[in-house]
Amino acid sequence: MMEVERTWDMPFKARSESLVLKTLRILSKRMKLTADEQRYYLNQEKGYEGEVQFDLLTEKLQHSCHILNDLQLESNKSSFQLDSSLIFQETYNLFEVKNFEGEYIYDTEYLKTLGGWDTQNPLDQLKRSKLLLSQLLQSLGSKLTVEAYVIFINPQFTLYQTPPDLPFILPTQLHRFMKKLDQKSSQLNQSHKNLADKLISLHQLEPPKIQLPTYKYETVKKGMTCSKCDSFSVTISGKKLICNKCGVEELITVAVMRNVEEFRILFPEFKITTNIIHEWCGVVDSRKRVSRILGKNLKINGLGQWAFYE
Ligand SMILES: [Zn+2]
Repeated sequence: MMEVERTWDMPFKARSESLVLKTLRILSKRMKLTADEQRYYLNQEKGYEGEVQFDLLTEKLQHSCHILNDLQLESNKSSFQLDSSLIFQETYNLFEVKNFEGEYIYDTEYLKTLGGWDTQNPLDQLKRSKLLLSQLLQSLGSKLTVEAYVIFINPQFTLYQTPPDLPFILPTQLHRFMKKLDQKSSQLNQSHKNLADKLISLHQLEPPKIQLPTYKYETVKKGMTCSKCDSFSVTISGKKLICNKCGVEELITVAVMRNVEEFRILFPEFKITTNIIHEWCGVVDSRKRVSRILGKNLKINGLGQWAFYE
């Protein structure tokens, strides 16, 4: 048996917020989203929260498997996304995680809420991902069998009239399901590790179609926000930024760099200059101070008024 250098309580690929979610978070405080955009944003936020909840369960698995969270892949020129996957000796288990809440009624095409709000049956997406993944694994020479499930992670979710043979794991079944996964006999070797590495190398940072509100520099709200409550009502006192709403204190250097990061996410095409960050941060009155902070944390390019930071 080959030793694999890795502790089993660590995910092979960790999850982080997508650029879409990060952008929406920043936009939601810096501009007025339409009702649709706001709903889309909150759905993204909720979906992410559900995936993180499921990660807490997979991380507890004691048995040999590689955990790959959030893979964006391509097969036969089609993009597909896997919320969570586990590589076992014989199987590749993929999970579509849904954080739906409340009472739904099962229907082959839609899941219907009692309030009349329909959402697409996640089975369609699951079948598509399963097919595309199987083809991709085959093309990589892997013989693993793909097992695919929809995980309904929210304990406040009920689905009436669910046929029992569907690959749906309802909240009441989740505990037993995870226990069964943990009892799977599995020995991993180098080929499993190679496959995990290969999939991570194929991971695309962003899905091809990004659905974002339209925004531009002139119209988004400028100013520094509190790191905890997102309030724009902040004051500088000495080396600190203090929130007038919740009282949280943060070093100005840290706060400026956090707001530079937001600026970068929203406007990746802009050059970072003292002038623009001075305007972006608002509350820091001295340009020199902004320039010093940027100089300490980023690499400067060019001189004088043409200088910008990377
Ligand atoms: Zn605050």
